Amino acid sequence: MPRYITVTSLLNKTKRRDPWFLDDYTINPYSGCAFNCLYCYIRGSKYGINMAEKLSVKENALTILRRQLAARARKQQQGFVVLSSVTDAYLPLEEKELLTRSILELLLEYRFPVHIITKSPLVLRDLDILRQINEQAVLPADMALYRHKAMITFSFSTIDPIIGKQFEPGAPDPAQRLLALKSCADAGFMTGVSLMPLLPFITDRPEQLARLYAAFHQHGARYVFPASTTLWGDEAADSKQLVMQAVQQYYPQYAEQYRLLFAHGSQVPATYNNALQAAAAAEAARYHLLSEIPFK
Ligand code: SF4
Repeated sequence: MPRYITVTSLLNKTKRRDPWFLDDYTINPYSGCAFNCLYCYIRGSKYGINMAEKLSVKENALTILRRQLAARARKQQQGFVVLSSVTDAYLPLEEKELLTRSILELLLEYRFPVHIITKSPLVLRDLDILRQINEQAVLPADMALYRHKAMITFSFSTIDPIIGKQFEPGAPDPAQRLLALKSCADAGFMTGVSLMPLLPFITDRPEQLARLYAAFHQHGARYVFPASTTLWGDEAADSKQLVMQAVQQYYPQYAEQYRLLFAHGSQVPATYNNALQAAAAAEAARYHLLSEIPFK
C-alpha cells in the first residue's frame, strides 16, 4: 500500500532547459518508483532496496498545482513540463489513482506543453488529453518553431526481456514499451527513446546497439538519447552496490571489468564513453534517427 503525503510544491522550475529533455519545469506525482531499476539515480537509503515499499502519493498535488500553474500562466510563463524526473508518472498505481491524468487535465487548462518520459504503455490511456495539449498549449517564446507541444519519450536500457527483468525488475516488458512507442508514433505524436543507461558489456556491444536502433526505427522513434551507466554509493540500497551484485550474479565474466570501470568514480572513463557515443552515432545515422528532439 502506498503512503499518502502532502507537499508544498509540485511544479518545479528547472535552472536551465536540458537540450535532450527540454524541461522548463518538472512534475513528479509520486515519490519513489515501483519499477525498481537497480541502476536508478534516485536510489539510496531513503527508498530502500525495494523501492515499491516506499511509494508515496502526493494527495494534495492538484490543489497545489492549480495554484502554481495559474500564477505562471498569469505571467505568460508557460514552458515544457517533464513528467517525470524522479519517478515514473505511469506506475501501476496510476491506473487507480488517475493522478497523472488529472495533472494533464490541469496542464491542458493552463496551456502548458508537456514531455512525458516513461517506461509504461499506460501512457496510451491519456493520448486523448495529450492530443488536446498538442493542439492548444502555448510554447515558450524561444521554442516558437516547434510544431509539437506534447512529446512522448520511452525509456530503455535493453530490449532483451531477460536483461530487463534482471536490471529493471518492476518495469513493463521492453516489448510492450516498443509497441507503445509505435502506437504513439502512429497517432502522430513526436516520439523517441531515452536509451539510458546502456550497461557496459551487457547491453552496449556493437551488435546490441545495432538491434536496439533497428527496433527503435521500426517502431517509429524520431530521436534516441544514448548514455552509459552512472553508479553511486557503497550502501546496500545504492545503485553501485545493486548493479555490481547483479553483474556478479548474472554476468560474473564481466565483474572484474565493472570493478575496473568504476574504480575511480561514478562514471565510465571518457575513452569508453567516447567509443560508445561514436558507435551509437553510427547506428543513429544508419536510420536517420536524431540525437535531439526535432522541432517538426
Ligand atoms: S523507471 Fe526511472 S525513476 Fe523508476 S526506478 Fe527506473 S530509473 Fe528510477
